Amino acid sequence: MPINKPEKLDKPESCDNVKVVVRCRPLNDREKATGYKMSVNVDEMRGTITVHKTDSSNEPPKTFTFDTVFGPESKQLDVYNLTARPIIDSVLEGYNGTIFAYGQTGTGKTFTMEGVRAVPELRGIIPNSFAHIFGHIAKAEGDTRFLVRVSYLEIYNEEVRDLLGKDQTQRLEVKERPDVGVYIKDLSAYVVNNADDMDRIMTLGHKNRSVGATNMNEHSSRSHAIFTITIECSEKGVDGNMHVRMGKLHLVDLAGSERQTKTGATGQRLKEATKINLSLSTLGNVISALVDGKSTHVPYRNSKLTRLLQDSLGGNSKTMMCANIGPADYNYDETISTLRYANRAKNIKNKARINEDPKDAMLRQFQKEIEELKRKLEEGEEISGSETSDSEEEDEDGEIGEEKRKKRRGKKKVSPDKMVEMQAKIEEERKALETKLDMEEEERNKARAELEKREKDLLKAQQEHQSLLEKLSALEKKVIVGGVDLLAKAEEQEKLLEESNMELEERRKRAEQLRKELEEKEQERLDIEEKYTNLQEEAQGKTKKLKKVWTMLMAAKSEMADLQQEHQREIEGLLENIRQLSRELRLQILIIDNFIPQDYQEMIENYVHWNEDIGEWQLVRMAAWLVYKLINVLHIQETI
Ligand code: ADP
Ligand code: MG
Repeated sequence: MPINKPEKLDKPESCDNVKVVVRCRPLNDREKATGYKMSVNVDEMRGTITVHKTDSSNEPPKTFTFDTVFGPESKQLDVYNLTARPIIDSVLEGYNGTIFAYGQTGTGKTFTMEGVRAVPELRGIIPNSFAHIFGHIAKAEGDTRFLVRVSYLEIYNEEVRDLLGKDQTQRLEVKERPDVGVYIKDLSAYVVNNADDMDRIMTLGHKNRSVGATNMNEHSSRSHAIFTITIECSEKGVDGNMHVRMGKLHLVDLAGSERQTKTGATGQRLKEATKINLSLSTLGNVISALVDGKSTHVPYRNSKLTRLLQDSLGGNSKTMMCANIGPADYNYDETISTLRYANRAKNIKNKARINEDPKDAMLRQFQKEIEELKRKLEEGEEISGSETSDSEEEDEDGEIGEEKRKKRRGKKKVSPDKMVEMQAKIEEERKALETKLDMEEEERNKARAELEKREKDLLKAQQEHQSLLEKLSALEKKVIVGGVDLLAKAEEQEKLLEESNMELEERRKRAEQLRKELEEKEQERLDIEEKYTNLQEEAQGKTKKLKKVWTMLMAAKSEMADLQQEHQREIEGLLENIRQLSRELRLQILIIDNFIPQDYQEMIENYVHWNEDIGEWQLVRMAAWLVYKLINVLHIQETI
């Protein structure tokens, strides 16, 4: 029985809250032309977003505070440097990282995650993170080895599709193993060697995203896309042994958060609508359960998205959520709802740790295989047969003894140089044979056959050698040596990122200075206000304060009413779904009762069990066989 190793206690853990940033896009041309007004005000210095109604209602504006906020003029490079850079740096150290883009359709989730790839300044987080990763590798020490893999998947209708897979009709299963956790069976992973590979992969993924979609806009607004980059890095530790650290980065472009309009969908459409909402609403429920402090159960298992990203929320990951909002007043309700969602997510606590020597690391396995192949190549190939003779094996008189002949028929390792020599020797012997006039035909044929056999063996060995060489070169290409510049065309991008990061640092210092000054001034003003010279002034001051408190009370009341209304709407939506689903269920029961005999139904019931892992009923093998038989019987009855 294996002895359980004691848990390592010295692993450093970093406890961080999920970072939440908000980005507001500019008004687009259509909105400007229609004359929509701005209802969002972004204060980048204070980190606040204020939303107000532009109609004549007296509703007070609502203000939310976040880690960082970006106004309509924000630059892609600044967004990268301020939000994603620290996460990618952690992933390079071996932490897991997740970046989500959340928000209503059309608010800039895809713009933030991918951006416009053809324009360096407009590239989003995914392409910039590649430039950053390969820039880091180029600067690493020469004895560090890296392996970078990517995968790209989509969840639509609670079905997982591999966007880099060969067969786009295939749906993948979410599985779980105690040693590696949740994973997707058969998901393809591409090894990337430089930042330019990423472009090909994203193009392939995009092409596949639109496969089978009748309306691309609708499809992308209803599906979740997860781009995952796995970085393994091996280095010699203080103990003198090689250690592998593995960081996994999930870059997630979520489905649009807008409420799915009630279209009175039924049947397949209703099923789709419920499932489309499932992953996103479960994400909301997971967040609620994590932050309310009372829940003992977090419903990760209720949807594919939350199962896959279980670590990202409340687990082993450094996580950032970018909530995207639109600035126009007609988006008021959705904007408030996004900000509330984001506000709750701020309170999620994650515990991230460096993944050292994980079970699913591939780098060590690759390196072992490389060494093994090198050893094999050095040793040479095995060749059987008798004529691999070396002269020292001959007797003094040139005769070959029976013992030696036997021995030589056994296998022998031959180096590539030797193979060339052997080839020449065969040719030579062949020529000699053809010119030998005094030989019997039978004897000659025998000698020819012998030569042919030797040639065949040699060819086989040469092919094997070649195949080993190819294997080695393919494997070596996958593993990247630290310090080698692989940026190629992306070098410019990395420079751009670095420069912008430095400039940002300057601006940050200046902003910090300004903020301090502002605070001091405010403090001074408060001090002055408090130095009342007489009672009248004090009364005035108190009235002012009272007014302020009164406004705050009103704002809180209106907020509460809003929340209640929203809650009510959500409950109504759920009830409507339940009503439609029970209608659907009654139809299914009707079909079953009329077409499947009662004893068969009972038999099936006896043989099914609920699979908690995948959240589905499953038939045990025996029952599957019986059902197959039953279908056959029903089919025969029908044909009769
Ligand atoms: P989503 O993915 O959330 O549905 P998109 O990223 O497709 O939204 O953005 C919708 C449109 O708005 C696109 O044409 C995009 O280029 C533009 N856009 C979004 N955010 C910005 C921004 N910050 N600056 C300029 N244009 C933006
Ligand atoms: Mg999008």
